[in-house]
Amino acid sequence: LTERLQQAMSKLRKKGKVTEADVKEMMREIRLALLEADVNLQVVKEFTKNVRERAVGAEVLDSLSPAQQIVKIVNEELTTTLGSETVGIEKSPKIPTIIMMVGLQGAGKTTFAGKLANRLKKTENARPLMIAGDVYRPAAIDQLKVLGQQLDVPVFDMGTTVSPVEIVRQGLAVAAEKKNDYVLIDTAGRLHVDEALMEELKQIKELAQPNEILLVVDAMTGQDAVTVADSFNQQLGITGVVITKLDGDTRGGAALSIRSVTGAPIKFTGTGEKLTDLEIFHPDRMASRILGMGDMLTLIEKAQQDYDEKKAEELAKKMKENSFDFNDFIEQLDQVMSMGPLEDLMKMIPGMSQVPGMDNFKVDPKDIARKKAIVFSMTPEERENPDLLNPSRRRRIAAGSGNNVVEVNRMIKQFKEARTMMQKMSNGNFNVPGMDQMF
Ligand code: GDP
Ligand code: MG
Repeated sequence: LTERLQQAMSKLRKKGKVTEADVKEMMREIRLALLEADVNLQVVKEFTKNVRERAVGAEVLDSLSPAQQIVKIVNEELTTTLGSETVGIEKSPKIPTIIMMVGLQGAGKTTFAGKLANRLKKTENARPLMIAGDVYRPAAIDQLKVLGQQLDVPVFDMGTTVSPVEIVRQGLAVAAEKKNDYVLIDTAGRLHVDEALMEELKQIKELAQPNEILLVVDAMTGQDAVTVADSFNQQLGITGVVITKLDGDTRGGAALSIRSVTGAPIKFTGTGEKLTDLEIFHPDRMASRILGMGDMLTLIEKAQQDYDEKKAEELAKKMKENSFDFNDFIEQLDQVMSMGPLEDLMKMIPGMSQVPGMDNFKVDPKDIARKKAIVFSMTPEERENPDLLNPSRRRRIAAGSGNNVVEVNRMIKQFKEARTMMQKMSNGNFNVPGMDQMF
């Protein structure tokens, strides 16, 4: 969650019922979160209006605090607005299915054409043909040809001296002759929407009668995305949207704006420069991303049943003050064991994926049992003040818990390291090597 949202949530945490004032305050934070994610103002207004109507007087689930309830509603509405189900490529009843990419220069049209060709080949064993319709830059044709070579997908081009409409006409003839099942038409873009380009695209559309006109948009476009998407849609009638460059740290608010303004479904997302960096669009993930939530909602739901919030607050304070002791450690181990697989839970926390070693994070229940045994062999004073643990005490604990001193030492060392890491993390620093060794 963004910091503001989190603050608003903790304020609301103690209350039992959602009042209109609560909703108002939460909605202000949510509006800001959306605007920070570059969602268009008009879209934000409409969206928050819908949520407010749903949220006031909403029945509060016992297990959720009012703030969590509102976030849940926001997330559900966001998911619905983004389009509830994933829609694939609309196939033509007879071959070829013709797909035309449109969008501004640098949006990722050519790259997406390659990614889609790759995907169709892999998933359907398809035999696509790509047509090089961007004649304004010689490099654009070469770029598509290089992709074609890498993928072993034919590319039809006629250089830069023939009109794009003519190239498409002849390309389609080749596809008919070779019985290609898909034709992907790569078109030119401009830095801004312009009349000459739109005219050219309309002519290509007229001629090719594509099954899909996919608008390719860079997730980082920001506020401009709405105007761009609107004019492409007005002039060409787009059938779907592809959001690229979601691998960056943009929150992707453009997706919400475009979906609201055009009504066209978002079909794919690009998550990198490689040909395999293509994903089917998931509205729920996108919603969480826009709100900056990771999979926070799932985490809220999962942890809710087992986790006493007051304890969590105390713990957070202790982590910050570095006064986390062995009693807390045991409590944590028990919490963790009762919440289900820790590794799943950890991965849902935003920022956790940046922690080195987190990819192959595993928790061994036997190991946890041994650690508990060691702690139970400590005196109450030792548990509260780990600094008391000198070599003779450690030997006693080792004997008492049926471990050797090396194991006791290792466990105490890990505990101390974990404590330092938690202090760093509670101050917002997730880049802590060794986090995966914490429990
Ligand atoms: P076009 O002008 O619309 O054809 O855009 P290109 O396909 O040539 O892409 C422009 C730049 O964006 C290239 O450097 C691509 O490698 C890069 N690009 C395209 N899609 C993505 C993506 O999903 N993630 C990242 N990081 N880069 C991308
Ligand atoms: Mg291009």
